[in-house]
Amino acid sequence: MVKIINGKEISNSLIEKLKEKVDKLKLESNVCPSLAVIMVGDNPASKIYVNNKKRICEKIGIKSYEFVLPANAPESELLKLICGLNKREDINGILVQLPLPPHINEKKIIENIAPLKDVDAFNETNVGKIMTGNFKFLPCTPAGIVYLLKESNIKIEGQHCVIIGRSNIVGKPLAMLMLHNNATVTICHSKTQGLREICKTADILIAAVGKPKFISSDMIKPGAVVVDVGINRDINGYVCGDVDFEKVKDVASYITPVPGGVGPMTIAMLMKNTITAALLQKNI
Ligand code: NDP
Repeated sequence: MVKIINGKEISNSLIEKLKEKVDKLKLESNVCPSLAVIMVGDNPASKIYVNNKKRICEKIGIKSYEFVLPANAPESELLKLICGLNKREDINGILVQLPLPPHINEKKIIENIAPLKDVDAFNETNVGKIMTGNFKFLPCTPAGIVYLLKESNIKIEGQHCVIIGRSNIVGKPLAMLMLHNNATVTICHSKTQGLREICKTADILIAAVGKPKFISSDMIKPGAVVVDVGINRDINGYVCGDVDFEKVKDVASYITPVPGGVGPMTIAMLMKNTITAALLQKNI
């Protein structure tokens, strides 16, 4: 019988723990972690994400600041804002909500966030540290996935983990993290030959493709753990993952649902990184 990994429940319990940590920090060290979220334009999906982050910050006791620039704001204005926030002692974490309008160079923006305030862990200093294992922050989605697996007592060491997707924010850092946890890792992408056969050898299969119901039950080894990172819309407009959940759940031993699986963990990990940033900046 398949076990559904309840990301909502696991993330709520982490959020409770983080709240206790922040209460203690305020009481014992007079430190209140803070997060600055920058949005350029008024993309409706970005607005929802930003509001969710604000709501969870409030729940934990993290101070949140929101900066909204118009969609046509020049890149220089955004860089100036980041430069100012880098210097402010009352700001511990800086997050630029992506995607940015096409006239702004995302890479340049990310590289201008001070590494100790880069709570998304997207800039090259932090990415490099993930490679060597000497990291301060981990990117939120990969860290959330490993947290889900560990909380569900799923063995990672020695297991064959197949990751479909090689993006800089999910696939690649996740592969490193799984490797640090002693999994044997295979990364697949759109040019991979024999994807189905490779997937069938996975003890842990992680799909980060961005294609609705791309993973079918005949790609799953019986008893495999299946983690679905995708957030898509099905033909009826409903949110769905990359995995054909209804069919795959009959073959897998564990599976994450969409929504309610990996998604809630991403935001909880952002909060964790913000607290870590505050501790590092205050030398606690
Ligand atoms: P990207 O579009 O950056 O990457 C998708 C990856 O899938 C690419 O590496 C691509 O290969 C690969 N791919 C595409 N088609 C195929 C195929 N037919 N066979 C094998 N591989 C294929 O996406 P992201 O990594 O940013 O996101 C992936 C999904 O996860 C999206 O649905 C996104 O919304 C979701 N997401 C969810 C988060 C959460 O919190 N739950 C957080 C971040 C993302 P190639 O490199 O060759 O193009």
